[in-house]
Amino acid sequence: MPDSVRVSVVQDTPPSVPDFTQWPSFPFEGDLRVKQLDDPVPVEPPRKGEGLRECTACAAPDDAYIWVSERWRVRAMDRPTGLPMVLILESRSHLDLGDLPNLLAAELGVMTVRLERAIRSLDGVARVHVNRWGDGSAHLHMWFLARPHGRLQLRGTFLPLWDSILPPISEAQWRENLALVAAWLAEFGGRPLAEPPRIQWQAPSSLTESPPATSERSDDEPVSVIEAAEEIPEPATGSDAATASDAATTDAAAADEHAGARQGVAAAAPTNDDEGAPPAQTLGAAAASGIGKSHSTDK
Ligand SMILES: [Zn+2]
Repeated sequence: MPDSVRVSVVQDTPPSVPDFTQWPSFPFEGDLRVKQLDDPVPVEPPRKGEGLRECTACAAPDDAYIWVSERWRVRAMDRPTGLPMVLILESRSHLDLGDLPNLLAAELGVMTVRLERAIRSLDGVARVHVNRWGDGSAHLHMWFLARPHGRLQLRGTFLPLWDSILPPISEAQWRENLALVAAWLAEFGGRPLAEPPRIQWQAPSSLTESPPATSERSDDEPVSVIEAAEEIPEPATGSDAATASDAATTDAAAADEHAGARQGVAAAAPTNDDEGAPPAQTLGAAAASGIGKSHSTDK
């Protein structure tokens, strides 16, 4: 085909904005322009956990998570955001979605359903959106975003944007939600690490004097879906070699596969047929009794 017939995607004037900018769920109004697309790069930069880039997930200790098990970990943002709950499910092994062995692939289904139920059980949550992007980090991580009940404008694909737009929920509510989800998951195994909110006896005036937990925030810790460094382009530093734990966890994954062949998925996933309904009293008690001893994700 001669070059002259080739259609170019580069346009001199940006196209008009698409119809979705008129949807009620679109968070912005006013004059909008479509950005000019950069030229495609011939070689994509390594993600976190690829090439020489350190893997944030593999380097994170268990106490950075709200719940951990032998093969899975669940973490929160490092502070409350606009949605009632935003959680990330990670495999313990350094694997991406398409590389999961069958045991982990099957468990991912079980864990996804379980976590969706746990988050949906929270007061004020209408729906839980499940997303996997993976453009920033090579280590499998699935996003779970709770849509507040009654907020019809937040329905659909713009929910991650709204998470950064809405005012953050209260710290106490956030911690209580984290503890409830961790306790729910622990009903089926693993270890809950989220702390329920402490009763704050200080007078309101003195509360403002205590430094916010966010002051220790590390750039590696995403604070919302949109601000998460893992899902947006950032300059590659490429200085850290892969850690020994990467190799160890990959070995563990191989071992998982053997264990799976022997015992089947049921060995790892509880066989409760009625797992959709952990007893509410147990949940409440677990949340109130000071489960775990570590902070969730403040670091
Ligand atoms: Zn990793």
